[in-house]
Amino acid sequence: MFNEEAQMMDLDEIRELQEKRLKKQVKYAYENVPMYKKRFKEEGVKPSDVKKLEDVKKVPFTVKDDLRDHYPYGILAVPKEEVIRFHASSGTTGTPTVVAYNRKDMEVWGDLMARAYSSAGVKPEYTVQNAYGYGLFTGGLGFHQGAEVLGCSVLPTSTGNTKKQVTMLNDFQTEVLACTPSYAIYLSEAAEKHGYDPKEDFNLKVGMFGAEPWSEEARESIEEAFGLKAQDTYGMSELYGPGVAIECPEQNGLHIWSDQFLVETIDPKTGEVLPEGETGELVFTMLTREAMPLLRYRTKDVGSVTYEECECGRAHPRIEKIEGRSDDMLIVGGVNVFPSQVEAALLETEGISEHYQIIVDRDVLDKLFVRAEVDKDHYESEEYDEEKLKEEASENLKAVLNIKARLKLLEPGTLPRTVGKAKRVIDQREEQDRIEDL
Ligand code: ADP
Ligand code: ZN
Repeated sequence: MFNEEAQMMDLDEIRELQEKRLKKQVKYAYENVPMYKKRFKEEGVKPSDVKKLEDVKKVPFTVKDDLRDHYPYGILAVPKEEVIRFHASSGTTGTPTVVAYNRKDMEVWGDLMARAYSSAGVKPEYTVQNAYGYGLFTGGLGFHQGAEVLGCSVLPTSTGNTKKQVTMLNDFQTEVLACTPSYAIYLSEAAEKHGYDPKEDFNLKVGMFGAEPWSEEARESIEEAFGLKAQDTYGMSELYGPGVAIECPEQNGLHIWSDQFLVETIDPKTGEVLPEGETGELVFTMLTREAMPLLRYRTKDVGSVTYEECECGRAHPRIEKIEGRSDDMLIVGGVNVFPSQVEAALLETEGISEHYQIIVDRDVLDKLFVRAEVDKDHYESEEYDEEKLKEEASENLKAVLNIKARLKLLEPGTLPRTVGKAKRVIDQREEQDRIEDL
């Protein structure tokens, strides 16, 4: 096991280390980042007020706009000469936010990613086909570095060129595939199209999937298609990148590497800290990052944290599979809808594929439309009955969402495929170029 000492720390050790690091990091951020000094002063807090772990509550929050407002270098705590890497978020939800790393930060990140591979069951002798995008996005280089630190060989295929990806999966008999779950699904389709049986012809054992929400049902179909173990990984560029939390083989939540991250769950409206197990906005304090410390960073991601023991023996607390972020949440007719709920309801229906789109539109009232492709095998089979399938899927949607969604079934291969994060939601309540075929 890679860095067994860190992976297998017991909870008391974790807490003790967190407390020590928290005190040090709060002082460090205060002294080296003018934004933090100002914020502390405004709120009447001194670094010395943080004596115990619980005192983290006194520390002011940091939000995404703080990073944007200080674009590009504003939160640096070290001279720029010390920085060896910049990344930026993919900007899914607006202006990109820049993050910086010094040499020590890169080492920590590499260690976290190597732990991620190792706890997912990846062995140093495996080859990792890394189909996350290389570039400003942290996915590509993050998964790359971690694999090297563990001692794997890396095929840095990056995203795109799907035919070549498929050929390489076959020719290299790659053991590990790293990419977004939506791209994994696309790859399995493409493999079949090019005459391969992904389960028989390829040698994939582990999939390192993440960077976007995906359902248990999507996991099942990916595992089934490739005959691999599909592991969820969570992270974001602001917190190094991928590697913040990872599933162990138990697949019952994602362990947060808590020697490096202190996690809290808060009520997004009041900012109040929620008790263990309650669902709220996840807030992370980076306990050692030097180039760009972040204290109580509000992620907007929605989840819950448990400290219950895991069968695998790791005491690092776990977050439930992330449902989505609060800005992904749609409010349709006053009801909250997460795209991941729609996905789960669709995939529960035998005969519906993983390719779908959610469209919110309005005439007088808000309306939810779902367009989903029929699964290719089902579409070609004798038993395919469009009306019946539509009715069944609509019922499943209604049961999960508590509101009526109008469903349209599409032929296989109709919707656009993505090589990175899938764009599932189109909110055309205010848009001019609308999709009319609903
Ligand atoms: P951007 O915010 O521009 O998309 P990132 O690439 O840093 O930039 O994306 C991080 C976000 O991606 C997280 O905040 C979270 O919403 C989402 N994400 C990452 N990993 C997962 C995962 N395993 N499950 C669900 N959502 C994830
Ligand atoms: Zn575990």
